[in-house]
Amino acid sequence: MDNRKKRVLITGAAGFLGSHLCDRFVEEGYSVVGMDNLITGDLKNIEHLFKKAEFEFYHHDVTKFVHVPGPVDYIMHFASPASPIDYLKIPIQTLKVGSLGTHNLLGLAKQKNARILIASTSEIYGDPLVHPQSEEYYGNVNTIGPRGVYDEAKRFQESITMAYHRFHGLETRIARIFNTYGPRMRLNDGRVIPAFIGQALRGEDLTVFGDGKQTRSFCYVSDQVDGLYKLLLSDYSLPVNIGNPDEITILDFAEEIIRLTGTKQKIVFKDLPKDDPLQRQPDISRAKEVLGWEPRVSRQEGMEKTFAYFKGLSAEALFDSEHKDFSKHNRR
Ligand code: NAD
Ligand code: UDP
Repeated sequence: MDNRKKRVLITGAAGFLGSHLCDRFVEEGYSVVGMDNLITGDLKNIEHLFKKAEFEFYHHDVTKFVHVPGPVDYIMHFASPASPIDYLKIPIQTLKVGSLGTHNLLGLAKQKNARILIASTSEIYGDPLVHPQSEEYYGNVNTIGPRGVYDEAKRFQESITMAYHRFHGLETRIARIFNTYGPRMRLNDGRVIPAFIGQALRGEDLTVFGDGKQTRSFCYVSDQVDGLYKLLLSDYSLPVNIGNPDEITILDFAEEIIRLTGTKQKIVFKDLPKDDPLQRQPDISRAKEVLGWEPRVSRQEGMEKTFAYFKGLSAEALFDSEHKDFSKHNRR
């Protein structure tokens, strides 16, 4: 009998979601191979895992041929820039990791006879004309807009994944992830939660884009990881929304952050970025039915934990508000 531990490859392992997934799979008794080229990630997120025998790390760009010696039972493909500022600064890498990177990982999954879960996104719905968004909705994406590099790469990723499923019979899972937050987000990645908390901690005004009437629905990371874990182990191959339907306008959210952090600063309004979706809320009926999953952590509780994490960062990290330097990475 084969007594070896199941082995999972997690791409994007040094990033926010990838690092939490590594923790979860190690806890669940898997042997974990993390892979990352560190373009937006940070080894600090996984340094606590390096001393564990069941964890190994490959510093590798998944847009190049991916080789992993030995058995692989599962792949979680999470490598991709994920914040609007990141993918505007590195648009071509964003397109490549969603397309070429996904192709490489599907090829690896086929060769290893592994099951693969890909990290898709609510962005495939674009600026949605249907509310809330269910998996049946095809989306409203501007292919040539600034967000198109991310949205279209993710849409291609879903298509090629379904093609491998249908044509090669590969075991595939597609998670459509809605805005998720928690410890280990990069303070300066531009996403709204680290942006607002960073501003509050530095004593700066909170920058609300547009009139702040646009909505988002924020999911705490432990809930997200739980949904992803259940989806991987399910037998369901069509896309599943994983997110928290608790919707709020960005202006109301800024006011919540002011109360949570006790900052004396005020809200200032800035231009709304192009194609910024006006409404976003997941319909999670499918996840409830197929996975028996729904989020459990309220925004209040999740935000308190997230604030505690950011408060614990060094002053150096807090005041390093410059965006990550991508210059050492190939910009092609
Ligand atoms: P993140 O930027 O923290 O993590 C992404 C990781 O991928 C980083 O460590 C980065 O260095 C790595 N990476 C990027 N390109 C790579 C490449 N070519 N080769 C190897 N590694 C590479 O972002 P995140 O929030 O953790 O997002 C992870 C995944 O989840 C992404 O695919 C993203 O699209 C998806 N997602 C996240 C959210 C969210 O709210 N966090 C929402 C929807 C989808
Ligand atoms: N946003 C904002 N101020 C900021 C950063 C973001 O008002 O400093 C808004 C942004 O315009 C969007 C929402 O917050 O409407 C969520 O932005 P984020 O970048 O976190 O993710 P998105 O859901 O747009 O990918």
